[in-house]
Amino acid sequence: MSWRDIRCGELRPEHVGQRLTVAGWVDTRRDHGGLVFVDLRDHTGKIQLVLKESEAAHELRNEFVVQAVGEVAARSADAVNPNLATGEVEIQVENLQILSRSTPLPFQVGDDTVEETTRLRYRWLDMRGERMQRNLRMSHAAVAGIRRTMEELRFVDIWTPAMTRGTPEGARDFLVPVRLQPGKFFALAQSPQLFKQLCMVGGLDRYYQIATCWRDEDLRADRQFEFRQLDLEMSFVDREDVLDVLERCVVASFEAAGREAPPTPFERRTYADVMKTYGTDKPDLRFGLEIQDATELTRSSEFGVFKSAPVVRYLVAPRAFSRAELARLEEIAKEWGAKGLAYLVNDGGEVRSPIAKFLSEAELAALAPEPGSTALFAAADEATVSRVLGGLRTHLGRELDLADPARNEFLWTIDFPLFERDEESGGWTFVHHPFTAPMPGEDETFEADPAGALSQHYDLIWNGWELGSGSIRIHRADVQAAVFRVMGLDEAEQQAKFGFLLDALQMGAPPHGGFAMGIDRFITLMAGEPDIRQVIAFPKVSSGGDPLTGAPTPMPDSILRELGLRSIVEPEQ
Ligand code: ASP
Repeated sequence: MSWRDIRCGELRPEHVGQRLTVAGWVDTRRDHGGLVFVDLRDHTGKIQLVLKESEAAHELRNEFVVQAVGEVAARSADAVNPNLATGEVEIQVENLQILSRSTPLPFQVGDDTVEETTRLRYRWLDMRGERMQRNLRMSHAAVAGIRRTMEELRFVDIWTPAMTRGTPEGARDFLVPVRLQPGKFFALAQSPQLFKQLCMVGGLDRYYQIATCWRDEDLRADRQFEFRQLDLEMSFVDREDVLDVLERCVVASFEAAGREAPPTPFERRTYADVMKTYGTDKPDLRFGLEIQDATELTRSSEFGVFKSAPVVRYLVAPRAFSRAELARLEEIAKEWGAKGLAYLVNDGGEVRSPIAKFLSEAELAALAPEPGSTALFAAADEATVSRVLGGLRTHLGRELDLADPARNEFLWTIDFPLFERDEESGGWTFVHHPFTAPMPGEDETFEADPAGALSQHYDLIWNGWELGSGSIRIHRADVQAAVFRVMGLDEAEQQAKFGFLLDALQMGAPPHGGFAMGIDRFITLMAGEPDIRQVIAFPKVSSGGDPLTGAPTPMPDSILRELGLRSIVEPEQ
């Protein structure tokens, strides 16, 4: 038996006169004395059913699932609904069957005022609405476009384990206790990083996977505990080969999702350049608001704060801020590490500022902003200045609506530092991950100068969101060991944690590199959504819970015991 001949949104005047069966959900129902009108809905759209009075017709309520058989008829001219793709026709129902009923609904499908936890608790209802249908299908289309590109470029889809040793990507691991070995744990893979490198050592040449990754970090608009990434690795390549593949994937996903693709190649800018100009390694390039330098100019300033600071920089916001607004901006600057916020406001030609009296004519001539704007200063060490002005720039971009929503700006940030200081230990740690190669020709020199070493790490940025990261990898065991040494791992620790990698690198490892792009972040931006929960079928909320299933839940002592565990947390009453 066939449940339906055609989908609800597909009926057109060409079907008039045919006797067809449709099936779907009751979207709305209107009683018109003697006749009942029902809009029947599925994922393709809605069709109007016309029912004669009957018990079944009266029983119908929203979200009942029904099957209807009847003749397709043209609507009279005054009844045509131009807002509906099927609006010129309707089905005169002869036979109606209720396939499934619905209890009263917690909210109407498509109601966009519903609180998110309620939407997630009843996600199956939420999914029937236009927004989730569009987003989940767009995600599918984009992934299909990526898979086609990978196939054309001869990548091999390889499955790697979820349960493994910790993979250092800079987050906490989720742990899995092992019943067969009580007291021991697997970590859920933060990424397939080492497995994909081993695939290259294994001669697979080009690996990819739409890989699920797990990272125990606080949940945010662009972050979930578990997420998918297009994970790839290639042998015998340089940076540009990898970037080219990613650009092709981005273009293919746009095209597959029916969107106009951005022009390629994307702009490439060095880490040092974007940090100086935008105060962040992931700038939103849809607006300017560039950071300017005043260090030289203020070397002999009468204003002590400027004169004594190693670096003085500023940005000019296109608005003469009020005192209250400046106080709020100062709070934000302090959150980013500033001690205060010096400013020069030009209110219709007159410069307003507590520091103006300390500045020379030359300083004022150079620094005073145009009428109707404000110069905001940061004076400190280079890193603090970048952090503060970068934070203010992002805030002002949002607050003053500076980004043109019609623009799409992709950027490759390249030439990152290889190491950074670990705030806790004071020693060196990796910027990307410890398998990232130093710059070509610097294999022998970085250990003596970790502070100055640059790496072959690159990030892909879209409108200020980091879509993903990658790098050319280390393929020599001696270079890998030197990186571990800089990070403070002695030989015994290197062997204990990464002995298998060092072994592999000594058995014929080809030069290789790769990338990982967050699929859910990418789709969020493509769909114009504010957060990734809107493009994930069953996401978690910021408390770390799943409102639908109620997970996570406590476990009985008997189960914990079997795993060699005991809970030290009092059960909630
Ligand atoms: N493993 C890295 C990540 O998940 C990406 C890469 O270097 O390929 O961010």
